[in-house]
Amino acid sequence: MKVLVVGGGGREHAIAWKVAQSPRVDKIYCAPGNAGIARIAQCVDIPADAVDELADFAQENAVDLTVVGPEVPLMKGIVDVFVKRGLRIFGPSRDAAVIEGSKYFAKLLLQKYNIPTARFKAFDNYEEAVKYLDDIQYPTVIKTDGLAQGKGVIIADDREEAQKALEDIMLKRIFGKSGDTVIIEEFLEGREASVLAFTDGKTVIPMVSAMDYKRIYDGDMGPNTGGMGNIAPNPYYSDEINTDVMEKILKPVIKALDMEGRKYKGVLYAGLMLTEDGPKVLEFNARFGDPETQVILPLLDTDIVDIMDAVIEERLNSIQVKWLDKTAICVVAASGGYPGKYQTGFEISGLDEVDDDVMVFHAGTKADGDKVLTAGGRVLAVTAIGDTLLEARAKAYDNIDRIDFKGIQYRRDIGKVKV
Ligand code: ATP
Repeated sequence: MKVLVVGGGGREHAIAWKVAQSPRVDKIYCAPGNAGIARIAQCVDIPADAVDELADFAQENAVDLTVVGPEVPLMKGIVDVFVKRGLRIFGPSRDAAVIEGSKYFAKLLLQKYNIPTARFKAFDNYEEAVKYLDDIQYPTVIKTDGLAQGKGVIIADDREEAQKALEDIMLKRIFGKSGDTVIIEEFLEGREASVLAFTDGKTVIPMVSAMDYKRIYDGDMGPNTGGMGNIAPNPYYSDEINTDVMEKILKPVIKALDMEGRKYKGVLYAGLMLTEDGPKVLEFNARFGDPETQVILPLLDTDIVDIMDAVIEERLNSIQVKWLDKTAICVVAASGGYPGKYQTGFEISGLDEVDDDVMVFHAGTKADGDKVLTAGGRVLAVTAIGDTLLEARAKAYDNIDRIDFKGIQYRRDIGKVKV
């Protein structure tokens, strides 16, 4: 069969890599892809959010299954367009993906169905929002309602910082329409965990949990990034917590979406805070995470195409999803200067010196003849698997140290955890 993967980052490389392992697949396209993906798929020069063009391509090339990586095409209704044309696609409809597209919608849904999350209030009026700042405790959390490329969440340590955030979002409108509504929510304390699940709208099957390293520097210092690394499973995510998350969060939210007439099919990503009062929802994403996917899919021991088919056909209860009893770690190599300004176009060396059982997932790379050049902030991720976290960690660092490009930076402490 022919599969089209939509997107061109590390997540899509990991998806394409997993899809390529399916004996049922004989051709993979990726739009737009990158230099690493080009080694296993035919890259097609269509942007990930050009929904109609992608549907035309799928139709003309008799694509049997399309898998959507990023959120923007989901919000643009790619799934609805494909379904209308009779094309098979893995992902939620626009009405269901709104759980990521509007944080206000997500919070209202959680509140209505009594699903644990931080207490909040929402505002579309600046003066009223500022007035509310006198009534709350600090730190507090200010969030834009809409998508903001991972930058729409501000933790304000005091009233002054909170007011500045409101000014930026509501008056200066730095996130445009995404900031029309602002959420001010309780600051939760605890450890964070990412849990993704496959769902067909009825059955929910969790994936292995992951732990994300969002800050740019070791010791969780410096500004937030799209993610500098991951480990899976998350060492703090016990079986008891998993049961709690399944029964109190994931199953109820999928049921709630169904009851609201927004049946959710695809991957649901829950960002959780493991608090003293139990796990609480920080956010939902309507798709695989990046770079969580780069540690989760290498541990998946079931044909992903079978799972996706079962989701589309709403028979996920007929599938046994298996995971390797191992630990995976992913270390992201970024351009110097990222997440601020950075330069691209530098040659990447050492890619062929990596061990066969270690994966290099490309994020921002570009082919130039035989060379591979940097082409983004996060350039690539090295994923290694081991029987223990220690083993996986040693392997990942031993291999990433063989890769080089001008200005390369990566954290040295991914997977350094005391449990
Ligand atoms: P992403 O890029 O992960 O999609 P996002 O912009 O959608 O990010 P969130 O994941 O909702 O934002 O929040 C980003 C981070 O902010 C969280 O990982 C967490 O560290 C912190 N955060 C969000 N909400 C809270 C909260 N209520 N209490 C404490 N920390 C929070």
